[in-house]
Amino acid sequence: MANTSVLQKEQLKNRIHDLCQEKNALILAHYYQENEIQDIAHFIGDSLELSRKAANTDSEIIVFCGVHFMAETAKILCPQKTVLIPDMDAGCSLADECQEEDFKNFLRKYPDHFVISYINCSAAVKAQSDLICTSSNAVDLVKQIPKDRKIIFAPDKNLGRWVQAQTGREMKLWDGSCIVHETFSEEGLLKLKLKYPQAKVIAHPECQEILLEQSDYIGSTTKLLNYTQKDISNAFIVLTEPGILHQMRKRNPDKLFLEVPGLEGCSCNKCPYMRLNTLEKVIECLTNNQPNIIIKEDIREKALRPIQKMLEMSS
Ligand code: SF4
Repeated sequence: MANTSVLQKEQLKNRIHDLCQEKNALILAHYYQENEIQDIAHFIGDSLELSRKAANTDSEIIVFCGVHFMAETAKILCPQKTVLIPDMDAGCSLADECQEEDFKNFLRKYPDHFVISYINCSAAVKAQSDLICTSSNAVDLVKQIPKDRKIIFAPDKNLGRWVQAQTGREMKLWDGSCIVHETFSEEGLLKLKLKYPQAKVIAHPECQEILLEQSDYIGSTTKLLNYTQKDISNAFIVLTEPGILHQMRKRNPDKLFLEVPGLEGCSCNKCPYMRLNTLEKVIECLTNNQPNIIIKEDIREKALRPIQKMLEMSS
C-alpha cells in the first residue's frame, strides 16, 4: 500500500512538471508548506524572497503555494500575470484579524503617524499603509524612518514588540497575532531544553515575548534556516511552523531539529491554512487556471506603492 501511495505521488509530481512546462508556469512555495509541495516548487522562500521572485519572473502563470495574502502580493506586483492559489480558503488568522474598515477607523485616531504594515495583511490594508515590511527586514526599515516620525505597526503585536525592543522606537501596535506562533507551549519548550541542554533555541519574532526571552537566536524563516548552517551547534529547538524543518534537515542532514509542541501537546503548531494546499489541488488549479487572484485596480495601485518602497529600502 505504502509503495502504491509513493508511486501515485510520483505520478502527481510528474503531471505537475508537465503542466508547468506546457503552460510556462512557475511554482513558488513558502517554507511552511507540506514537504511534498516544497519538493515540487521551482523556488522556496520567505515572504520577501517570494515577492522578489514573483516580481522578476518571465513565467506567464505563478502558482502560489502559500496563503492568500502572499498570492495577492504577487498579483499586486505582477498584474499582467495569472496568479493561481491551489486553495482559495488558505487564509491567515493575522490578516483576518485586521479588516479594512477596522483599520481605517484605527488610523483615523492617529492621523500624523507613519503606517508600517507587516506583509501578512490583505491588499486593502496594504493600500492604507505607507510602508510594508517582512520579518526579515522590519528592524532595518524601522531604523530608516526619521526619528521625529510617530509610527503605527500592524497587524502583529508580537513582531511589533520585538521590533520596538531592537530599534528603541515607540510604536502604536495593532492588537493582532498569529494563531500558530501564539500557541507554542512554554512547558513543551522547557521540557525539550531539559532533555537537550546542548541544543540552541531559535525562534521567529511572531512568537510570544516569554518564548523569545528564552531563545538563543531570533529571526525570519530564512534567517533561521541560514543560522542552522552557520552555527556550530548540532541540535536546534525550533520555535516556528515546523514546515521549515524540511529545508533545515535537507541542508543539515547530520544535525538534530526538534519542533516545539502546541499547548497541551496539540498539533496547532502547524498552520491549518498553509496545509490546505495539496499536490492534487496544484494539478487542478494548473489545469483549470482557477482559483485565480483578482484585485480591484484602485486597491492594487495603492497597495503597490508601500511594497515598492519596501523593495527599494531593503535592496
Ligand atoms: S503561520 Fe500564522 S501568520 Fe503564517 S499564514 Fe499561518 S496563521 Fe498566518
